[in-house]
Amino acid sequence: MTQELRTYQSEALSQLRQGIRQGSMAQLLMAPTGSGKTTIASAIKQGACAKGKKAFFIVDSLELVDQAVKRFMDDGMWVGVIQGDHIMTNYAAPVQVATIQTLGRRWRQMPDSIRPDLLIIDEAHVLHQAHEDIISWCKDNGVPVIGLSATPFRKGLGKIFDRLVVTITTADLMDDGYLCRAKCYAPNIPNLKGVKTNSSGDWDADAVAEVMGENGLMGDVVEQWLKLAEGRQTIVFAANVAHSRALCDRFQQVGIAAAHVDGYETDKEGRTEKINAFRRGDIQVLCNVAVLTKGFDAPETACVVLARPTKSLMLHIQMIGRGLRTANEKSDCIIIDHAGNCLRNGLPDSRLPQELHDGKSTRNLDRKEREIKEPVEKPCVSCGFVSTKHVCPSCGFKPEVRQDVEVVDGDLYEITKDNAPKEKWGTEELASLYAELKGYARAKGMKDGWAFHQCREYAGRAPRNTNQIAPSAPSQKTLSIIRHLNIKNAKRRAAA
Ligand SMILES: [Zn+2]
Repeated sequence: MTQELRTYQSEALSQLRQGIRQGSMAQLLMAPTGSGKTTIASAIKQGACAKGKKAFFIVDSLELVDQAVKRFMDDGMWVGVIQGDHIMTNYAAPVQVATIQTLGRRWRQMPDSIRPDLLIIDEAHVLHQAHEDIISWCKDNGVPVIGLSATPFRKGLGKIFDRLVVTITTADLMDDGYLCRAKCYAPNIPNLKGVKTNSSGDWDADAVAEVMGENGLMGDVVEQWLKLAEGRQTIVFAANVAHSRALCDRFQQVGIAAAHVDGYETDKEGRTEKINAFRRGDIQVLCNVAVLTKGFDAPETACVVLARPTKSLMLHIQMIGRGLRTANEKSDCIIIDHAGNCLRNGLPDSRLPQELHDGKSTRNLDRKEREIKEPVEKPCVSCGFVSTKHVCPSCGFKPEVRQDVEVVDGDLYEITKDNAPKEKWGTEELASLYAELKGYARAKGMKDGWAFHQCREYAGRAPRNTNQIAPSAPSQKTLSIIRHLNIKNAKRRAAA
């Protein structure tokens, strides 16, 4: 049975039809995660079939063939498959689901009579040479091409597609309840100065893994997860295989059911088994390298940990998108960003580019260059929560404004011999500093996370088991430390 289309899906259909009528031969539809891409594709196909036309649907992996075939058949279409010696090979069927690999090989020999009257390309931000050859034949022969992509931001897409159609955004899908809301925390912003960039314009995986694999940072991934997201089904994106395995070990060391998967494993069954265990809840934290982006769908994922810095807006959106599906008993998704990705590429509901890259422009699609007028997200200096608000919506921390720095007698609260951080902090000293900061936080109506971060900022680290340390009234000395930290933070913000 065909399901009823949502308003923006019908709107997409009518805009695409209008585009074809107006002579757009290759259009790209932005279809964010959760927008029902296959539903839209199916509706387009049914429209074509009703007019006696032949429609091809091109995917770029084997797993996606079966998903698409099932969907089109459920919607009552006669479907053939072009993929190796697939059992459903049948060129007479009006709807053909093809992998680009097989279609690319057969295309040249294929008689015009069985070539398509309409071509739909799934995941159209990844185009191989074979795609381009087929698209160019379509353009020459008046066959409309429609690309579907959640992330149509690749350089040069505007040279192949002549129009981008956008009828829904991730923020809209959240507003309408089709996706869940996300809360993003950025407790660390790694220093990636000097890390080399690879040929595709992103940081080199091994070089970045070296920075991210630093002992303290790795410990922090687990620590922050315990603090912010314990109990949530979680996907961790690591920089490379060794980094992912090491993070997995860290989680296991504190008794969390964690596993590692990567795309290089030859043992595909082992990987599928781990993913199924994750979906059942037997595994709670699944660490991976780039493999859980495409085609992976586990709606119960309620936390995404970003331990892989990226400059790629596409990869960023793919990673955070894994946590945005709705599921029973899931109210939101927590994103713990140790990679600076949300500050670099935006939050899940940030505005995205509304035009295709023309291939000529050297500008990239970094947020810096694409949205000058919009407020910029920043992490709360106290708890790390990322927002555009002055007062932190998560912990209530209110940064002092710059004028405050001038009214306060700065020298009084600078680091003096008396309140200077110690070289080495004993367990008890550290615990008592934390206890007093916690006492202060509670008195001011801020969350305990504030104390945690201030303690780390000042002493270089926070005590273990912060949950078990009772708050105590801050001493004069701790109050002067707090004032010192406030001024330091205010100065830092003023400088930034
Ligand atoms: Zn905060």
